[in-house]
Amino acid sequence: MRIARTIAEVRAAVDDAKQRGHRVGLVPTMGAFHEGHLSLMRRARAENGLVVVSLFVNPTQFAANEDLSTYPRDEQRDAALAEAEGVDVLFAPEPAEIYPDGFATSIHVAGITEVLDGASRPGHFDGVATVVAKLFGIVRPDVAYFGRKDAQQVLVVQRVVRDLNLDVRIEPCPIVREPDGLAMSSRNVYLVADARARATALHRALDAAAAVHRDGVLDAESIRSSALAVLADAGIDPEYLELRDADSLAAVDRVERDALLLVAARVGAARLIDNLLLKGDA
Ligand code: AMP
Repeated sequence: MRIARTIAEVRAAVDDAKQRGHRVGLVPTMGAFHEGHLSLMRRARAENGLVVVSLFVNPTQFAANEDLSTYPRDEQRDAALAEAEGVDVLFAPEPAEIYPDGFATSIHVAGITEVLDGASRPGHFDGVATVVAKLFGIVRPDVAYFGRKDAQQVLVVQRVVRDLNLDVRIEPCPIVREPDGLAMSSRNVYLVADARARATALHRALDAAAAVHRDGVLDAESIRSSALAVLADAGIDPEYLELRDADSLAAVDRVERDALLLVAARVGAARLIDNLLLKGDA
């Protein structure tokens, strides 16, 4: 596996692979790899001739009060894990390579970024949309892999690709969980004993909602209440717990089309998110 620090290096590797007729897969990450990241790399490895993983803790997607300075970083460990998955190129640039002096462009996706995490984290999705568009411009992948754990992010990236006519296929991938159901996240390292135990309530809350939905309940308030009760039992007051249309993120009163139940909550020192797809009939 090659570690590329510059745009020129990663482009040279991609040009070479394309000349040989290889398909190029990209997995964008911020590092501190866990099984969620590794599942995306495995999928990319199975489907492409060249696999590029980007490792960049993107400063523009963190708000001023967020954890940019304490975000877990361990490039050596990450490089070993990526290499073991057969990744070809780990693109790990310095911030100045991505945002040189005079950098002035930002991509804003209207509508779907104004709710949920977009409301809680002002500017977050502008940072995501901009860096992902840059990574697509740098790597020019045929396919890019994203986890459904960040469901709103998947929708934002899909919208950027569609609206800007970018020539890349987006592959959303399943959420990988710990054995007790907690969605894997680099931020789970912030959870110490008691908070780690309480954090399972997010998944249990979504499970409770899924059970109610399976019993035929379609009404959003009843589905939400069943999940809120589980969170309350664990002493968790969520930042949001909402049922939204799975494509538009519009609020829904009844699950008629596919809907997402999305939750964000602060548990101990970590801000956690999770979500569940409820299939509609339509
Ligand atoms: P991050 O390093 O947190 O920016 O995540 C990089 C990619 O891994 C994103 O597409 C995430 O959605 C994805 N990812 C993170 N956690 C998980 C998980 N538990 N299951 C599946 N994908 C994940």
